[in-house]
Amino acid sequence: MSNSLQQAIQFDQQHIWHPYTSMTDPLPCYHVASAHGCEITLSSGERLVDGMSSWWAAIHGYNHPQLNAALHAQADKMSHVMFGGLTHQPAIEMVERLIDLAPAPLDRVFIADSGSVSVEVAIKMALQYWFSIEQPEKNQLLTIRGGYHGDTFAAMSVCDPVNGMHHMFRHALCNQRFVERPAVEFGEEWDPSSLNAIQQELEQYHGAIAAVIVEPVVQGAGGMRFYHPEYLKQLRRLCDQYDVLLIADEIATGFGRTGQLFGCDHAGIVPDIMCVGKALTGGYMTLAATLTHTKVAEAIGQGQGGGALMHGPTFMGNPLACAVASASLALIQQGKWRAQVKQIEQQLREELIPLNQHPEVNSVRVLGAIGVVELNNAVDVARTQALFVELGVWIRPFGRLMYIMPPYYISTQQLSKLTHAIAQYLKSVTS
Ligand SMILES: *Cc1c(COP(=O)(O)O)cnc(C)c1O
Repeated sequence: MSNSLQQAIQFDQQHIWHPYTSMTDPLPCYHVASAHGCEITLSSGERLVDGMSSWWAAIHGYNHPQLNAALHAQADKMSHVMFGGLTHQPAIEMVERLIDLAPAPLDRVFIADSGSVSVEVAIKMALQYWFSIEQPEKNQLLTIRGGYHGDTFAAMSVCDPVNGMHHMFRHALCNQRFVERPAVEFGEEWDPSSLNAIQQELEQYHGAIAAVIVEPVVQGAGGMRFYHPEYLKQLRRLCDQYDVLLIADEIATGFGRTGQLFGCDHAGIVPDIMCVGKALTGGYMTLAATLTHTKVAEAIGQGQGGGALMHGPTFMGNPLACAVASASLALIQQGKWRAQVKQIEQQLREELIPLNQHPEVNSVRVLGAIGVVELNNAVDVARTQALFVELGVWIRPFGRLMYIMPPYYISTQQLSKLTHAIAQYLKSVTS
């Protein structure tokens, strides 16, 4: 077995790209046999406590009995049918639950097949809205630096132009508008002057701007930073004042991760267009959605563009994905996540904030079930990952960021194992 396992890993290295990796200088990958609850089991036998929820997605852990049941039951009926001209109960039920959970009046839903695609659709909706009401000159997007919205071309155009991992494509990207990221962090005292940059930009260019797109409160892959919800609240006001749509990219923040159901709930605002993804299926398969309200939907429906929203992926509304998503949303609707996330937040504060004392630590921040330890120097990923596997945890650092966002029902002991592993890493870099 171990010989063939070696061969399998070697084949992988030679033939398969992993996210953001080189084919000629690949980082080591660990071969997974199975995952259950909050643990990932490697084919080499180690059991790792999961600190990543597979990138924000596996909020209920792995191999959840209700999600498994939903998937199996649907597979026995049909795995897929085209969504053009056909519909089905898994899609209808999933969207019913989604509308129930989403802030009113967001009740018009486009089912997309990944987060990036839902951002593409959100951008299309915004542009098509202004086209439909005969203001096609409003066709630029405005965003804040430090953002991440996905890897497809329109999504890339609103990622941070420097940190956004995509700078080499900048000549092929649409030219969007950027302002500095909000200066006031979550939990700090609000300073109205941090709005000046975006206010000035809107004042001067609103005639050319279709929409502002932001990740509400938590900027994820662009740097894991948490900004003051008042910024979002005031941004909503400014968008209304200057007649610009507000797109909230809740792909990472949605479904409880930040301690509120959606990031926008910290500010008590409702965007015009909202993207959800990642945790939508509880991490089982790729699915996302773009929600909007009647005003945008009707303007597009009755407008200049001919009425149809011009998007339609082959696997739109995939029944397997919708059935699992529906089961995951049902768990969210039960509401246990709120106490679980609060508990995780408290424990992360207790166990991570003391690490601030360490000379290698730049800052520690915790919000909901997200804990971030920002270091002074970039991490050697391969070496650190090996240490973590030895310590029985799965944490994947990137750049100077060490962060954990576990499944919601992780036990106190399991969570301690994660935070202790980070403390061990800090010891290893100083000794
Ligand atoms: C992950 C992410 C995306 C892209 O989603 P994919 O499913 O990877 O295409 C977009 N926006 C945010 C905020 C994300 O975290």
